[in-house]
Amino acid sequence: MSEHLQTFFAGRWRDASGPRYATEYPHDGSTVATLHAGTSADVDEAVQAAEAARWKPNWARLKHHERAALLHRVAAGIRANAEGLAQLQRLDNGKPIRECRALVASAAGTFQFFAAAAETWEETLTPSRGDFLTLSVHEPLGVVGAITPWNSPIASEAQKLAPALAAGCAVVIKPAEVTPRMAIELAKICQQAGVPDGIVSVLPGKGSVVGDALVRHPLIQRIAFTGGTTVGMGIQRLAAEKLMPTSLELGGKSPTIVCADADLDHAVAGVLYGIFSSSGESCVAGSRAFVHAQVYDEFKARLLQGVQALRVGDPAREDTQMGPLVNQAHRTSVERYVELGLQEGGRLLAGGTRPTGGYYDHGSYYLPTVFEGLDNRTRLCQEEIFGPVLALLPWRDEADLIAQCNDNLYGLASGIWTRDYKTAWRIGSALQVGTVWVNTYKLFSISTPFSGVKMSGYGQEKGREGILAYTAQKSFYWGLNDNPLPWAAG
Ligand code: NAD
Repeated sequence: MSEHLQTFFAGRWRDASGPRYATEYPHDGSTVATLHAGTSADVDEAVQAAEAARWKPNWARLKHHERAALLHRVAAGIRANAEGLAQLQRLDNGKPIRECRALVASAAGTFQFFAAAAETWEETLTPSRGDFLTLSVHEPLGVVGAITPWNSPIASEAQKLAPALAAGCAVVIKPAEVTPRMAIELAKICQQAGVPDGIVSVLPGKGSVVGDALVRHPLIQRIAFTGGTTVGMGIQRLAAEKLMPTSLELGGKSPTIVCADADLDHAVAGVLYGIFSSSGESCVAGSRAFVHAQVYDEFKARLLQGVQALRVGDPAREDTQMGPLVNQAHRTSVERYVELGLQEGGRLLAGGTRPTGGYYDHGSYYLPTVFEGLDNRTRLCQEEIFGPVLALLPWRDEADLIAQCNDNLYGLASGIWTRDYKTAWRIGSALQVGTVWVNTYKLFSISTPFSGVKMSGYGQEKGREGILAYTAQKSFYWGLNDNPLPWAAG
């Protein structure tokens, strides 16, 4: 039995006015919920209501510590509903339940962190250079749009919503069409926590309709976007028309480097986790593993043992490591890449097919897949697949290794496995990426900035500074001289 979901926009719970559609549970293709997509008229209504709400005294006059208290209540609301939220997220995108729980916990932590950032907000009295005092303050940008992908909904949405609210902005969230649930739940929790109506709106639906209308809306002052590089480039083009700042968290093709001196137990576990957790549907998936030739055969043998032991299956089970892909269409796109890898001369060492039998036949499952024998210049090694597909590449010379790692349009993340801290520093410093994990992978901390370089985007999220992205700086000069300005007086 599926549920009908209403959404919350312009301060009211109701259906959006676009066509009705259904969301599916990737495990078995069953309908989870039906809801209505937003339209450009809905976007306009939500944005106008947000613009009105942000000037009302119950939002505009809140002191930083009061806004912090509100964000703490949102964090508490997420924690109080944590298990229910995790189960809903599992149904929305098919992630294993343990991963969903971690994402929900991280969302609560994000609100807590930005509550602290709001509470300890400081402004700057700049050094005086005359008979005047100079002071610079940060003001909320206004109404901002948050556009998010389907792979880690609650975490992506919290990373935009929390700093925006902490800064005093109003937010219209456009979640991915296939995973609207978490944004709607967050709106409910914000309302219960006391966020004034109109300050948070959620409009699900198609990117080309709702997302596009949000980006183009004249009252939207910023777009915080996480998603694919092509869509991000389109957003930046439109943003240029109104000189609107954006942050673009985009795709990746992250290299993981295994050095000859690496602790292979750790490296194997790290490479497996880096590519196959979240079924590879992760922007930072370590999809190219460069393994030193001296340890290549041993690493490969151990890695393949690990792949065979991975528990691929029902995301509701506590011991599942890899669930289904988000939907059949995405699985087809992963399958096309595997065919391409074979045409490009790759040898399949594992996977390359769907698991079959029982529920596997109904869900969008795909087996963890490992290739070798591919050149780094092949499309399989260059393009983001966003699925459980790993390419193993041997390396010998460090300069050539670094050149190959950097020979890619993207620059999101990387991993280095070595016992030598100098090697890690040298290689890590030479990589053109936003994040380097040394002897670990895919760990995240809200207090540490995150961003890509090159075609992986720009604009830091997370970290104390993350809040400033939602502000505009205004400087004040206070004249202290008892006499009129000499020019006017003279
Ligand atoms: P996507 O770019 O297709 O969609 C992302 C969001 O943008 C969705 O809400 C979508 O509806 C919306 N959108 C689509 N077209 C739009 C348009 N013309 N105008 C405005 N909005 C539009 O990405 P996806 O398939 O949902 O997610 C996968 C991608 O996200 C991958 O490339 C992945 O690497 C990337 N991603 C990046 C990060 C990061 O932090 N760098 C994190 C997670 C995912």
